[in-house]
Amino acid sequence: MADHDLAVVGAGIVGMSAALWAQSRGLRVLLCDRAAPGSGASFGNAGTIATYACLPVNSPSILRDLPRLLTSAESPLSLDPRHALAHPRWMLSFLANCRPARVAAIAAALARLLAEADAGLDPLIALAEAEDLVVANDCLYVWTTRAGFDGAQAGTDLRRRLGVACDEIGPEEIRALEPALRLTPHRGLRFRGARHITDPQALIGRMHSRFLAEGGTWLQAAVTATRPDGDGVTLIADGQEVRAARAVIAAGAWSRAIRGSGAEHLPLDTERGYHLVWDAHRDLIARPVGWAEAGFYATPMAQGLRLAGTVEIAGLDRPANRKRLAYIARKGAEMFGDLGPPSSDWLGFRPSFPDALPVIGPSPASDRILLAFGHQHLGLTLGGITGRIVADLAEGRPPDPPIADFAPSRF
Ligand SMILES: Cc1cc2nc3c(=O)[nH]c(=O)nc-3n(C[C@H](O)[C@H](O)[C@H](O)COP(=O)(O)OP(=O)(O)OC[C@H]3O[C@@H](n4cnc5c(N)ncnc54)[C@H](O)[C@@H]3O)c2cc1C
Repeated sequence: MADHDLAVVGAGIVGMSAALWAQSRGLRVLLCDRAAPGSGASFGNAGTIATYACLPVNSPSILRDLPRLLTSAESPLSLDPRHALAHPRWMLSFLANCRPARVAAIAAALARLLAEADAGLDPLIALAEAEDLVVANDCLYVWTTRAGFDGAQAGTDLRRRLGVACDEIGPEEIRALEPALRLTPHRGLRFRGARHITDPQALIGRMHSRFLAEGGTWLQAAVTATRPDGDGVTLIADGQEVRAARAVIAAGAWSRAIRGSGAEHLPLDTERGYHLVWDAHRDLIARPVGWAEAGFYATPMAQGLRLAGTVEIAGLDRPANRKRLAYIARKGAEMFGDLGPPSSDWLGFRPSFPDALPVIGPSPASDRILLAFGHQHLGLTLGGITGRIVADLAEGRPPDPPIADFAPSRF
């Protein structure tokens, strides 16, 4: 018999959720990460539990606006041409998924999973005794231009058709809700009932503590390869061999590097995103405010005001691009007036497939290996439900909800 029923590679929100769900079902779980729990993309995100965010980044307007988006210093999107040329499959597939029919299908698949997100996350928050990290105060999207708002209308209509409850609000209501905003808002959307996490890494840290307290095994090591066979899987972790009946690859944007897992053949890339934090401005706003044209959220976090977002396509290896951080700082000053120097900044690597859907399910390499990565802009929101699905699969139950939309075989 293997030492563990399930070995989980990656202790971001996805892997940590899978480990805790599987443990709560009575499985003997080993969790492995090369770094501290919650120190990857899950560390510095915007904190929103964005159950309303079913629209993918792919959008018909990207095709129209691409030249401006890629060349303007004031764009929320940037692309390193060397990276694009080296990864034509991802780029072309991303653009193909901007067609209206594909966007509608992707949004519907995301909406079905997002509808289950709270049911996946809330039991983990309760197990971790982390209710104090959750704030339920809605979320706002703000547009500052008529063109931007009108251009987003088709997306808003699609969102509503998929069951997302949102109220359109005018400039006065926006200013009344968030008096610190110095923007001149055109219109906004208020997502009633939306919540956010004030410190995602603290949430994962508490989940990890609960996992250890319940007898889970923690291994800090880098997994380089997996070798599945008829009885289980051998993982190579910092040169040692670890044996489990099944393994989950939840190593976020780095999942492809794990040889023998089947992940290495999938078109996973990263959408890099940044954040800046101002610890002096802790109470400036009461809820996450997404500035739609600028491509980031301002969120009141435990550490202070966090501006987090934007997309940079430039791979995993290049250092942080100071121009992208300067863009967010400049836009932050437009949004709130002079904030002074930020207290910290961060570059994070969203794990992203070109169709904006995660991969969740058995690997093409072996059904002893489960793949769970590629949650792009929604990993904090969808980590919990992904973890529950992984636990279903590890127990040999049909997954709830079904996962056909997220099958690795779609590539
Ligand atoms: C700027 C920004 C803002 C965002 N805002 C939001 C938001 O508001 N709401 C939302 O839902 N999502 C948001 N996201 C997305 C979200 O943060 C990610 O989708 C999510 O964190 C991905 O989680 P993960 O567990 O898959 O990956 P990660 O958190 O990156 O975890 C992967 C882990 O695997 C480990 N690892 C990698 N390789 C190996 C190996 N070989 N061996 C062992 N361990 C390994 C890493 O150390 C890491 O701990 C945002 C992302 C960014 C960048």
